[in-house]
Amino acid sequence: MLKGKTVVVTGAAKGIGKAIAVAFAKEGCNIVLNYHSTEPDATIAEIKEQGVEVLSLQGDVSDFSFAKDFINQAKKQFGTVDVLVNNAGITRDNLLLGMKEEDFDAVIDTNLKGTFNMIKFASKLMLKQKSGAIINMASVVGIMGNAGQVNYAASKAGVIGMTKSAAKELASRNISVNAIAPGFIETDMTAVLTDEQKEAIFGSIPMGRGGKPEDVATACVFLAKQNYITGQVLNVDGGMCI
Ligand code: NAP
Repeated sequence: MLKGKTVVVTGAAKGIGKAIAVAFAKEGCNIVLNYHSTEPDATIAEIKEQGVEVLSLQGDVSDFSFAKDFINQAKKQFGTVDVLVNNAGITRDNLLLGMKEEDFDAVIDTNLKGTFNMIKFASKLMLKQKSGAIINMASVVGIMGNAGQVNYAASKAGVIGMTKSAAKELASRNISVNAIAPGFIETDMTAVLTDEQKEAIFGSIPMGRGGKPEDVATACVFLAKQNYITGQVLNVDGGMCI
């Protein structure tokens, strides 16, 4: 069902983005991969093992002109974009009173504006072809809030609002827009936490453990395969948000 489709994944050199790109490659999709500073060679090699094509482009999703160029390059190489996964994201944690203006701006620019930039240019192609799936990476903290993450939680709550609004705008052209809200997933982003912090978090998860990047990738592929779910937030969190 997804075989031969073109899938764009941002921030795909490592972590959840890498798992998503590899999962779609296993479905027979060609992959357009964005990376920022992490070298994507290992990810590209893993994707190519699946016998599909890969286009990789370095750039910053918060840069409006990069986003335009990125989607144009995808169209040039593969003719269209069928699935867009807005995965790129950063944290710059601090308590509210200690948070620097540049840390607030950086998180909003990457996580929220970056998502807008990519949706804007990819949806233009999807509107013409009257089909497509957009999947945005939110977070449980965009739903619940989290001390020390006002910037990150605001960006992810914004992604959820953007997802629902874009879903309403694009639904009539057969384009679904959904968000995934991961809880604790084992990647570089969560590797900075101490064992004590991790134990405290696992204590708040009914399943009592963190998830793997592949758990998020499975949800992504599911949302891309279906055609009647839109504007939803799918939690991949071991029950953290119940
Ligand atoms: P990660 O390992 O730190 O990966 C983040 C990816 O985003 C990296 O490939 C990074 O590239 C890329 N990126 C950062 N800034 C970028 C920019 N300006 N332009 C393009 N790419 C950029 O983190 P992760 O855990 O896989 O997170 C992936 C997504 O899931 C993020 O949106 C995150 O907020 C979300 N999420 C994660 C968790 C979790 O528990 N891990 C929970 C909830 C939500 P470089 O390394 O090259 O900078």
